[in-house]
Amino acid sequence: MNPRAGRIVVVGSLNADLTIYTQRLPRPGETLHGEGFTVNPGGKSANQAVAASRLGGRVSLVGAVGRDANGDMLLDSVAAAGVDVSRVRRTEDVETGVAVVTVDAHGENSIVISAGANGTLAPDDVAAARDVFDGAAVVCLCLEVGLETVQAAARAGRGAGATVLLNLSPIAQIPQGLAEASDVLLVNSHEASQFLDDADMPGPGADAAAWEQVRLQFAAHGMGRAVVTLGAHGSVVLDSDAGEGRRVTRIAPTKVDAVDTTGAGDAFTGALAARLAAGGTLAEAAAFASVAAALAATRKGTQAAYPRLDDVQRLRS
Ligand code: ATP
Repeated sequence: MNPRAGRIVVVGSLNADLTIYTQRLPRPGETLHGEGFTVNPGGKSANQAVAASRLGGRVSLVGAVGRDANGDMLLDSVAAAGVDVSRVRRTEDVETGVAVVTVDAHGENSIVISAGANGTLAPDDVAAARDVFDGAAVVCLCLEVGLETVQAAARAGRGAGATVLLNLSPIAQIPQGLAEASDVLLVNSHEASQFLDDADMPGPGADAAAWEQVRLQFAAHGMGRAVVTLGAHGSVVLDSDAGEGRRVTRIAPTKVDAVDTTGAGDAFTGALAARLAAGGTLAEAAAFASVAAALAATRKGTQAAYPRLDDVQRLRS
């Protein structure tokens, strides 16, 4: 048996999150005194890889970081979660990607990202990682690296017979070929609306008939299977491949005392990938991911807040 069979390959970004806390966000030209500063591992793909690995997935991460302290910190954090980082390339003269985050007293934030090494991730890196794609069950992609790299990874995943999971974040226009090479689209409701040409999204109390219309719109855009996350309102699975009457599944939110929802979306994506790789249906995987993401929201931080399999199982039983 191929030792890589059943693996999850995550291709994309690793960022150091440099966060400063203030009473309010600064105005243009203004200097403010902050009230604390943290440096934490982040980047959507690094977060998703950690979330999937903590939940029992066997994960390889394909990415790039600089040969600097932030690069060391990121590799240490991701590897400590059990992720194979042998395909994270170190760049010699480009620094590790950073997200400079300001958070005000109400939890409102403003974020500026410098792609750094993430911007160097290229289709050649995907080609060089061909052996980790071989026999992979799930390939997990987001849009924090170049679209041509995302597209190469989607094609490699398809070629390997994996389920290609595309998290359309941060939202961008995607080439038709990328939609065609992806199996499951994962979006929040804002991203869903933009992907569907600014279509109105059903409200929190909407019934299955309203979501059935959204399913038809996704299918018309070449995405037969999509999961739309709705923050504290849960999520909706739209599955054109499911039988009559099962094409729309509402996943109720898991009730928790949320402390910090930063990175809940990445926890959801990683958990969805882990469950799909373990053989679950899309609706089963989303129900599992909903619990994992809610648990992540009960703790401060992103990667450090992600739950383990037994945490999720305890809450589900
Ligand atoms: P972010 O970019 O902030 O990480 P997102 O916008 O991609 O998040 P959300 O829809 O906000 O994603 O959240 C993803 C999932 O996390 C939701 O579908 C839900 O299952 C879970 N979740 C988020 N916030 C809460 C909450 N307050 N209570 C319970 N579950 C939550």
